[in-house]
Amino acid sequence: MLDTHRHRGLRHRLVTELEKKGIKDHRILEAFRDIPRHYFLDVAFADWAYKDVAFPIDADQTISQPYTVAIQTQLLDVKPGDNILEIGTGSGFQACVLSYLGCKVYTIERQKVLFEKTSNLLKRLGFGKIRTLFGDGYEGAPRFAPFDKIIVTAGATELPEKLFSQLRVGGYMVIPHGEGEVQKMLRITKGEGNTIIKEDFGDFRFVPFLKGIQL
Ligand code: SAH
Repeated sequence: MLDTHRHRGLRHRLVTELEKKGIKDHRILEAFRDIPRHYFLDVAFADWAYKDVAFPIDADQTISQPYTVAIQTQLLDVKPGDNILEIGTGSGFQACVLSYLGCKVYTIERQKVLFEKTSNLLKRLGFGKIRTLFGDGYEGAPRFAPFDKIIVTAGATELPEKLFSQLRVGGYMVIPHGEGEVQKMLRITKGEGNTIIKEDFGDFRFVPFLKGIQL
């Protein structure tokens, strides 16, 4: 696939839109300006990559809306060198944004088809440093814990205890949570002695955080 002048123009427009919607972190805006988001969609849908909407990918899943990726990243308040766990690799775009910001990224996907396709794509795009894992995100990745931050990109009906235990004290988990179609974007801070602080950042819609794997 090619990254043309026109694609770059569309990216600039998207960045302006994200700024207007309240994304202030310059590094995040730069990531959206630099990463060719159309590589993460099938070629026939390239132009959809630069509209601020979610879009279908393989296995009935979605690539999250650009604004949602930007806000989740902003809420994580990442620092270069942070050890980050993402649940729900999907297209791989969110993982690339975190890697672009200098984080060490581990990302788990439960759909085998997406895991394979996206692992290959990330290597081809020069994001081979991202560690892709196939498995059930409810289990987390204890081998690589503790994490400074955990980001869940599927809607959870329960708060995953195991993931919380893999977060370092002082770390954040950003997770869309709720029953039904709409979830609340929560940022949960882990304090000393397993205390937590929950902050609510409003309504979002995600595909469900499901248990088990899909071969
Ligand atoms: N971060 C992705 C968003 C993909 S949508 C992106 O940038 O494109 C959410 C993804 O979470 C889907 O691919 C879905 O298969 C995955 N998912 C849902 N439940 C999961 C689980 N238990 N473990 C790992 N991945 C899961």
